[in-house]
Amino acid sequence: MSWDRVRGHADVKQSFRGAFAAGRLGQSFLFVGPDGVGKQLFARELAKALLCERPPAPLTACDHCPGCAQVEAETHPDYHTLRTPAGKQELPVDEMRAFCARLARKPSRGNRTVGVVIDADDFNAESANSFLKTLEEPPPGAVLVLIATGLDRQLPTILSRCQVVRFQPLNAADVARVLEAEGVEDPARRERLARLAGGSVARAVALDDDAIWQVRETLIAGVASPRPNFAKLAEAWQKFVEDAGDDSAAKRTRASVVIGFLVDALRQALRLALGSEVGGLDPADEPRLRALAERHGPDRLLELIEKCVEADYRVERRVQLILVIESVLEQVTRVPK
Ligand SMILES: [Zn+2]
Repeated sequence: MSWDRVRGHADVKQSFRGAFAAGRLGQSFLFVGPDGVGKQLFARELAKALLCERPPAPLTACDHCPGCAQVEAETHPDYHTLRTPAGKQELPVDEMRAFCARLARKPSRGNRTVGVVIDADDFNAESANSFLKTLEEPPPGAVLVLIATGLDRQLPTILSRCQVVRFQPLNAADVARVLEAEGVEDPARRERLARLAGGSVARAVALDDDAIWQVRETLIAGVASPRPNFAKLAEAWQKFVEDAGDDSAAKRTRASVVIGFLVDALRQALRLALGSEVGGLDPADEPRLRALAERHGPDRLLELIEKCVEADYRVERRVQLILVIESVLEQVTRVPK
């Protein structure tokens, strides 16, 4: 059954089914949660369930009818999505107007329309404002879903018109199951990736790539060397991020995964600096981490960890990635006199 494809989020599925059964399904939803936990997939499965022509149970898609197939292929005439165009940082107002016009059309198949704003983090004031009227009075039968990583980027006028639905990070077992479905065959590899992914499938997928371990090696070795080469490290990190292509979410994931590696290394160095036992260190890493421990000492290491965590927050808040990368490296490559 189609909902089975959505891992985790049992509480969210339950609340949608409950509201639908009671005839109280809302019209405007704001899905909020970290990248890569299944918000988009959930929105698509919801659209399928609403537009399915032969639902086997209430709010459940059959996954076989033309309606289900067309939602899956994003060709259904009553299913509309809006993304930030490649290379842009914001949702342009003209595209938002065209999206609203599509939503306002009478449904061509049944009595429902579903509209999903996939990059609701990227509203600018103009596009948010042009969406307000549709949000205020959704066309009859329309269900609107906005997908965002946090509430703080949304205008109060948007927030007050949506029902907020929270998506938590997945547990490691669910991430491993998604990886299995995506074709990662080796169970040990799945388990390792799931453990490192912090509940995000997108992160796990990003980690399943030899290039990232190469970058980790360059970075940890470079940062620990007696004279870190800022420019070389910035270039390696930035190239890795840029290699994600036009997909800005994938770029953010890559930048953030690298910050995660740094935080991990700094935490281990901190334990060493405090004289704690650190088990299971990679033999190549150990001398580097000891060098970092000795060079910086516990207070500075703690401060660096905080800087990295802050930087990760800025990645999520869509600060320009090159600025974040440079500011992190500027800190961690600084050698005390
Ligand atoms: Zn169907």
